[in-house]
Amino acid sequence: MTILHVSAECYPAAKAGGLGDVVGALPKYLNAVGVETAVIMPKHRTKWLANQDFEVLMQGTVRLGWDWQPYAIEKCLNTSLGYDLYVVNAPQYFDRSGIYTDASGNGFYDEVERSLTFQQAVIHWVMGMVEKPKVIHCHDHHTGLLPFMMQYCPEYVSVSQIPTVFTIHNGQYQGAFSWKKAQIMPFYQAEANGLLDWNNTINPMASAIKCAWRFTTVSPGYLDELKANSGGLEWLINSEIRKSAGILNGIDAQVWDPQTDPMLAYNLADSDVDTYKNKNKEVLAQMFGVNPNLPIITFIGRAVGEKGADLLPELYGRYLAMGGAANFIFLGTGDPSVTDALTRLAYQFPDKMGVMVDYNEKVSHQLYAGSDFLIMPSRVEPCGLNQMYSLRYGTVPIVRSIGGLRDTVIDIASPDGGSGIRFNNFSIDDAMMALHRSMRLWWDNKAQFLDLRRRIMTIDNSWEYSTQQYLTLYNQIANF
Ligand code: ADP
Repeated sequence: MTILHVSAECYPAAKAGGLGDVVGALPKYLNAVGVETAVIMPKHRTKWLANQDFEVLMQGTVRLGWDWQPYAIEKCLNTSLGYDLYVVNAPQYFDRSGIYTDASGNGFYDEVERSLTFQQAVIHWVMGMVEKPKVIHCHDHHTGLLPFMMQYCPEYVSVSQIPTVFTIHNGQYQGAFSWKKAQIMPFYQAEANGLLDWNNTINPMASAIKCAWRFTTVSPGYLDELKANSGGLEWLINSEIRKSAGILNGIDAQVWDPQTDPMLAYNLADSDVDTYKNKNKEVLAQMFGVNPNLPIITFIGRAVGEKGADLLPELYGRYLAMGGAANFIFLGTGDPSVTDALTRLAYQFPDKMGVMVDYNEKVSHQLYAGSDFLIMPSRVEPCGLNQMYSLRYGTVPIVRSIGGLRDTVIDIASPDGGSGIRFNNFSIDDAMMALHRSMRLWWDNKAQFLDLRRRIMTIDNSWEYSTQQYLTLYNQIANF
């Protein structure tokens, strides 16, 4: 293989958010242009993985201090993905109810041991390959120590010359842990301590930014923002900026195709956008018990500060209390203070609010297809995929102008008619103004609204363009 992606998630095998979508799609598009690409991930306990057949390629153990952890590298025999998928099978760490958290949403206490075992199992496997990958592409902090270990651990010297790329999907989660845990790291050259350290902790994300041959962010806008605001890494990002690139994520246009998506109640047929939207909206209205004659404004995602979900209860509450004529649907999990507040609103306004506190892939597809608007009031948005899915499914995005949202949604006030509605400040007033603008569009300018939604469905956000940018980057550090 030429490129090996190392990631904690990969759709459809395991997905908790955008990372899974990206790692599940980019390799397919690289293979399509003739660059042999594979993925390795932990063997999580998911329905999809449980239904696959695997071939065991090797078995080994990873040393964590005084402890030895067994693992097996297995190849998934499913050939329909468009790339080869490998897993690290270490059931003591990965055969659990969640990818990162237990059933009550708490992060696993042994996150460091899990990621160290995973990363070193990958290195062992690569060391044993006759023909090694030309580039190892690591994603987010769970794989952030790979570039360091490959270069500074004597036992891994045979892979020290393989170029590495590290992609920051989310700079908020850096995976930092105490130096007290240094004893479970593999032996490394002591003078390299500084390449692990950030703010007196071992910080995998900081280490990857220092040690990877190139680092990327998932949109150009996010790279700019990280220079000024990256959870304590600002200085580091600025000092390493010469080896960085901001490459916008694409969407997997085969998975996300309103004409063929098997998760939709009604597919788009004969370019009849209005029928496709109306029928899917009816299904949604029935599912959530809301009024199909009013516009549906949807939020899908994690109810966390980053996504700005805490703005929603007050925004929706005020709008509905004024007698606002709109439905609001929420699909997501996260901060109970947000989901509880929204659930209370749903009791208060049962025919205008629908709340589903769940992670549900199928319902999310139906929401992209059947809603009129999708709201993303994010505080931070590295790229954001929801707005791209919503464009493709004919749902007008209402977004805060930040990170990847600013890179992918143009306001309807622009001369070419734009693709959505934007607001600048993270405040109820600004979000309310965007909501009012959206409602005016829907109620008072129906022809413009219908034209807009037909037009946004034709915007090409697929991976082809970004794949070329990754290829350019790989070519800067490897010959193939
Ligand atoms: P994140 O920061 O969470 O990775 P992205 O916008 O990059 O945000 O990607 C989010 C992905 O996760 C999208 O595919 C979205 O549809 C999906 N998603 C998020 N929450 C849910 C949910 N509760 N149910 C189904 N899909 C979800």
